[in-house]
Amino acid sequence: MDRIINSAFKTEDQLLEQKLRPATLMSYIGQTKVKENLKIYMEAAKKRGEPLDHVLLYGPPGLGKTTLSNIIATEMGANIKTTSGPAIDRPGDMAAILNSLSEGDILFIDEIHRLNRLVEEVLYPAMEDFVFDIVIGKGASAKSIRIELPKFTLVGATTRAGLLTAPLRDRFGIMSRLELYTPEELKTIVRRSAKVLKTEITDEGALEIARRSRGTPRIANRLLKRVRDFADVKYGGKITKAVADEVLTILDVDKLGLDSNDKRMLKTIIEKFGGGPVGLETLAVSVGEESDTIEDVYEPFLIQQGFIKRTPKGRVATDLAYKHLGLEGVTDENQLKLV
Ligand code: ADP
Repeated sequence: MDRIINSAFKTEDQLLEQKLRPATLMSYIGQTKVKENLKIYMEAAKKRGEPLDHVLLYGPPGLGKTTLSNIIATEMGANIKTTSGPAIDRPGDMAAILNSLSEGDILFIDEIHRLNRLVEEVLYPAMEDFVFDIVIGKGASAKSIRIELPKFTLVGATTRAGLLTAPLRDRFGIMSRLELYTPEELKTIVRRSAKVLKTEITDEGALEIARRSRGTPRIANRLLKRVRDFADVKYGGKITKAVADEVLTILDVDKLGLDSNDKRMLKTIIEKFGGGPVGLETLAVSVGEESDTIEDVYEPFLIQQGFIKRTPKGRVATDLAYKHLGLEGVTDENQLKLV
């Protein structure tokens, strides 16, 4: 009988997710600069017979930080242990994790900016000198004992490097920023994923999904799965541009990849705040989102596409945003705000 409470138990979606993750640097598409650099650092470390320096990967969600950390482990021939900032409550938990590592292991901490301060402090000597101190006993008889750790590599992931405290950030020898993907790169990812899913897709069909995926592989794969459902049920299984277009329109993803949340945010800036500038916190309250979500999830794409600008006084909707939403803009005035 299947055991439900079993760490190996995975839902169908999780299994699929695993299959879609590229396993080698070769099959990891895009992020050329990051890959080139990592390749050199990994080769150098291997040549010296040492573990790789600690790596911080940062960038918006869904760009491939977790995937890349697994690839680093594979390429280094190392074991990987995975955890996340919010999952580690107490310094003792962190000490236990560190104590379970073997020489050369990769420790991946997702959302590393969410570690609490006391837990974080355990990491400082561990990262720097591969040791940690534990205090035994209480009061006057308390003694501090230093424990040696095997040499390991910490790979941390976060949405913005600026969210980390300076002492933690400074302890990473390698900092790599992941960028939004181009439609061409996403097209390659969609084609590859379609192959894994055994779904027939035309080049134009893949490009249509790619163009509407906000520069993000996770979104591209998600949209592909939904389009595939429609294609299977209504269109004999094959994804063409027309099928992709029809389904994405039904899913409320517009031609440029903006979804209802993006549009709500742009409309709020335009209609409630006269196009801006509006401060991040005010905007967050207005659209009912966390300011972090706005900064990490919505903004990178909207800024890259030129729909909003960050000014010292706050966020401003550009002419392009007015045009795209089919709204009248006070164009000249709006332009002035951007100067
Ligand atoms: P993050 O950790 O940054 O939130 P993930 O590593 O979980 O992102 O990536 C999300 C999904 O996108 C992965 O399951 C993988 O299928 C896909 N993906 C991410 N980066 C790439 C890439 N460079 N090439 C191919 N697929 C990718």
